[in-house]
Amino acid sequence: MNDNNPGTDTEAISDVSPAKALFYGNIVKPLIWPFPLSNPETEEMLQMVLDSVDRFLEGREDEFRKWDEIGAQPEDFIQDLRELGLFGLIIPEEYGGIGLSNSAYSRVLQQCSRYDSSVSLTIGAHSSIGLKGVLLFGTDAQKQKYLPDLASGDKIAAFCLTEAGSGSDAASIKANAVKKPGGGWILNGEKIWITNGGIGNFFTVFARTDGDSGKLSAFIIERDFAGVSSGPKEDKLGIRASSTTTVNFSDVEIPEENLLGAEGKGFMIAMAILNNGRTGLGGGSVGGMKTCIALAAKQAKERKQFGQSISEFGMIKQKISAMTVDCFAAESVVRMVGHYIDSGHSDYSVEAAISKVFASEAMSRTANEALQIAAGNGYMKEFPYELIMRDSRILTIFEGTSEILRLFIALSGMKGPGTLLRDLQSAADDIFNNPIKGFGLMSDYAGRKITQITSLGNERIVGAVSDELRDDALIFEKYSLELARMTDVLLRRHGKAIANRQFALKRIADVVIDLFVGLTVLSRVSSMDADGSDQYQQAVSIAHIFSQKAKRRMNQNLRAMLRNEDESAKSLADAVFEAESYLWDVL
Ligand SMILES: Cc1cc2nc3c(=O)[nH]c(=O)nc-3n(C[C@H](O)[C@H](O)[C@H](O)COP(=O)(O)OP(=O)(O)OC[C@H]3O[C@@H](n4cnc5c(N)ncnc54)[C@H](O)[C@@H]3O)c2cc1C
Repeated sequence: MNDNNPGTDTEAISDVSPAKALFYGNIVKPLIWPFPLSNPETEEMLQMVLDSVDRFLEGREDEFRKWDEIGAQPEDFIQDLRELGLFGLIIPEEYGGIGLSNSAYSRVLQQCSRYDSSVSLTIGAHSSIGLKGVLLFGTDAQKQKYLPDLASGDKIAAFCLTEAGSGSDAASIKANAVKKPGGGWILNGEKIWITNGGIGNFFTVFARTDGDSGKLSAFIIERDFAGVSSGPKEDKLGIRASSTTTVNFSDVEIPEENLLGAEGKGFMIAMAILNNGRTGLGGGSVGGMKTCIALAAKQAKERKQFGQSISEFGMIKQKISAMTVDCFAAESVVRMVGHYIDSGHSDYSVEAAISKVFASEAMSRTANEALQIAAGNGYMKEFPYELIMRDSRILTIFEGTSEILRLFIALSGMKGPGTLLRDLQSAADDIFNNPIKGFGLMSDYAGRKITQITSLGNERIVGAVSDELRDDALIFEKYSLELARMTDVLLRRHGKAIANRQFALKRIADVVIDLFVGLTVLSRVSSMDADGSDQYQQAVSIAHIFSQKAKRRMNQNLRAMLRNEDESAKSLADAVFEAESYLWDVL
């Protein structure tokens, strides 16, 4: 099963992407229900790590503020991170690490981000992306050689992909590694904006291995190799205490054994690392949101205007409830993706992208609203809001911008139905020349269309939720079919050219994000004890609020697919590009 339109072949369920299946109108219930909860053993270990994070970071706001101003974390703080084992979170115990699962690791980064994003980033860039290549693609010898030092933090890792001319278009990098006749490579190039670039001494570096038009390969480079240097620290808007620098490679000799994974597979390796690391950033976003909610709730209760606490005002309540729903939803989708990774699921790239886009944007909304609730106080450096806002601004930019990930979500999802449609169209002749083959294709396609239209054969999820959530479940069932219908319409209308219809792709991506995130929310609330407690009833309300808002957004996105102002918007943008200014000044 690889087209992600699963029938009854449960053996292949671990190959199915539940988000891609939504493009066929299918909700793959066994991949979303029951909601994944951690087991008691993991919980015990995780709780110990969380407690030590709390003990270590609590009450240090003034230091974090100072490090933000000077733009660096002091070496003795990095040493404390080492001693606490925070560089070894995801490295297996046999190599001296703590061996946390992806979900547990994401939860630890969440806890760190509740205190300070730069702390999370130093740890996260090391674990989520810097060393992940060794875990995923390293040979036994590479693991033996590097993982113990990476676990202790004697080696701090960085991920070196971006270059001056190559950001989102990662495949266009120019750094090159030329093969030496006797084995090994000579590396030249400059990487920019590398997190941990100044403090790292282990670099996962991507370079072109066979000429300018050649393929990318990944290498392990140590700082001690001759020709490796880093530039000065960048002066940034946020996450200022984390190290960001260029990393330069000048005639660096790479030993043969430092090739990471297969030669020529560097692009795939970079994408696999980024996909696998997305729950770190997602967890960090959730941690930041929890801090914003706590700060804003206290602030709103304490601040009195017009003779009453501002928490009494509807517009403030509306903000706090939206922040809470966003946080619950982000937490649910990040946990679900962590579970896919931990359970050995093979295709989770679209789900991981959804979790990154949703969690990072939810964090941006939350930071903005928390500052708005604090208003003038929020704008002052004396309060934490402006720092949180500056720190969170990066989240929708690095490890894949929101725009690039939306393109990826929409196009990856449409690929399966696109192939199906193309097969049907290219088989048009066969339908007459080779009726048996042609009929097979026709009936397969027709069957899937009927599945979409009637939802027969589609696993109903209404049965998996309590009565209270039935209407919410019906929304997601209905809109997954609407998504499939719209995918079909767009593919028929544009064929391959859909890849360039970005207005439409953005809307499709937003529908899928709402669908998949909403399903994880429903799954999570259904997994709770329906005990009538306040907490349960509030969770049901969260599900209702998310579903209703998602319904309005999905409806708007799908309607705008057929009636919109896209062409006017494009011409307007082109006019502004032409003039490079606003053209309608009024004196
Ligand atoms: C603080 C910081 C830390 C970083 N850490 C690292 C690191 O550790 N390692 C590393 O390798 N990199 C790192 N980066 C780089 C980061 O991953 C890139 O900034 C990011 O990938 C975007 O690239 P870019 O900034 O060049 O933007 P560009 O690619 O130039 O994009 C500019 C804008 O155009 C949009 N855009 C681009 N292409 C398309 C398209 N096809 N369709 C629609 N819109 C498009 C983008 O979404 C964006 O809004 C870091 C960056 C920062 C700022």
